[in-house]
Amino acid sequence: MTCPLCKGKMKKGKTNLPFARGKNLLVVRDVPALVCSQCGDSFVEYENVEILENIVASAEKDGVLLGFIQFNKVA
Ligand SMILES: [Zn+2]
Repeated sequence: MTCPLCKGKMKKGKTNLPFARGKNLLVVRDVPALVCSQCGDSFVEYENVEILENIVASAEKDGVLLGFIQFNKVA
């Protein structure tokens, strides 16, 4: 896969993704993603986006409104 922005090479890597919901800001760390070796843009695959949404939703349910969460497939 090539980068949609700069056509650079995308490599498997990890990224941190911020989720803003109203006044809340959660950052999910170490999300598996394809990362551009040229401009650093990242692309998260659909299956991982779903997991991310579950992680963020369950953190909010636990009352976490601000901070970092570790990406975890088991969650
Ligand atoms: Zn790029």
